[in-house]
Amino acid sequence: IEEREKFRIEYWSLEEAKLRRMPQPRPLAARVALVTGAGSGIGRAIARRLAAEGACVVVADRDGTGAAAVAEELGGPDRAVAVTVDVTSEEQITEAFGTAALAFGGVDLVVNNAGISISKPLLETTAEDWDRQHDIMARGSFLVSREAARLMIEQGLGGDIVYIASKNAVFAGPNNIAYSATKADQAHQVRLLAAELGEHGIRVNGVNPDGVVRGSGIFAAGWGAQRAAVYGVAEEELGEFYARRTLLKREVLPEHVANAVLALTGGDLSHTTGLHIPVDAGVAAAFLR
Ligand code: NAD
Repeated sequence: IEEREKFRIEYWSLEEAKLRRMPQPRPLAARVALVTGAGSGIGRAIARRLAAEGACVVVADRDGTGAAAVAEELGGPDRAVAVTVDVTSEEQITEAFGTAALAFGGVDLVVNNAGISISKPLLETTAEDWDRQHDIMARGSFLVSREAARLMIEQGLGGDIVYIASKNAVFAGPNNIAYSATKADQAHQVRLLAAELGEHGIRVNGVNPDGVVRGSGIFAAGWGAQRAAVYGVAEEELGEFYARRTLLKREVLPEHVANAVLALTGGDLSHTTGLHIPVDAGVAAAFLR
């Protein structure tokens, strides 16, 4: 915390910067990140990348065991803490931010990554499916962002909120109405919050990974099999199938999504807000599915 305060003084005691409501970008080594769904897959890759750049990380996940393992891997209590949090619970979210403040003195980078994927054709999608999907991804990320904004405004140091949305936020894919609708909701939250929080120096951006990122729990839990069926290929060939259809002929993996989060929050894009970066090896640009 002392080290962090030193950076704060160095970078943030600039009254001029505050007056202009344009806080200077700080190195990640002087920042605290809270990543939801960081117990596995893409969130874990993001937590690892931010930690590698020196950020302290709050590994927030409904799966406490997964979160604890990641926090341990990142260096234990001085560098990372695990919090068990279900993003559908306002109370647990408040507690998670409280834990972060206690451990590291605050939070100034939040990644809305937690999610599930209920991917069914329209006629098989129940009202309960719709509600569950929206509860976790649309409502859950709204609640996390609201708490993040509350804390960041109070801290007066600006901050970053990043949404891990999806290519499906923009482009229609078959058989996943509930999932894609929540991703579109998240994409609009990015623009709405960028508009509302800009004056506090809080930047809000999104990352749109391609529709299939292997190496994640969502993929293993059926998303991969479902996509394979839709595209008529064997599940083990899906990675190669997806890579072949991209402009860059490359498969998107969790690490590539993490790289985009780093690009957005590392300081170089200090004047960018309300943006979605596609991490899809060119699929969206070429209207490929
Ligand atoms: P994942 O299952 O590996 O990770 C999701 C994590 O979120 C898990 O650790 C899970 O425990 C956690 N989680 C689920 N519900 C939660 C809740 N209510 N509260 C707190 N934590 C909860 O899957 P992933 O692919 O790494 O997914 C991460 C994000 O990336 C999701 O938002 C997903 O929609 C998005 N995404 C994934 C892909 C893909 O192909 N895998 C593509 C585009 C976007």
